[in-house]
Amino acid sequence: MNSAFEFWVFALDDLANIALHARTDDEAAEIAHALRSTFNEVIRKAKSEHPAVCLCCDHVFAPPNAPPFAFGLVLEMFPDRTKEDRQAVGTGICRRCLDRPDFMDLVKQSLQEAYPGVTMREMRLDS
Ligand SMILES: [Zn+2]
Repeated sequence: MNSAFEFWVFALDDLANIALHARTDDEAAEIAHALRSTFNEVIRKAKSEHPAVCLCCDHVFAPPNAPPFAFGLVLEMFPDRTKEDRQAVGTGICRRCLDRPDFMDLVKQSLQEAYPGVTMREMRLDS
């Protein structure tokens, strides 16, 4: 299994700029698809007994605190283009964590726990 991933962060009000940040149209479509899936999942869970939580803290994305202020996406760095979908994992991020100066350190720590030994390339997009 390929163990190189890149991490993207999109603030909710920056989603319209996906096409500007992506390197190719395919990548823009993949990111938009992954963000839409993540958004739908967070909203679906918000009404359940087990709402989604922030990637870096225990902030719960349930009314009145849904949707997340930002979204993080973990994408394969070298996707297999012969497959239909690029492997992607999305998560919500609260404003308090996004504003922390050590935010990327928190993310790396969380991701290292989830994917031991991965190579991470960060992409932080501030609007
Ligand atoms: Zn948080």
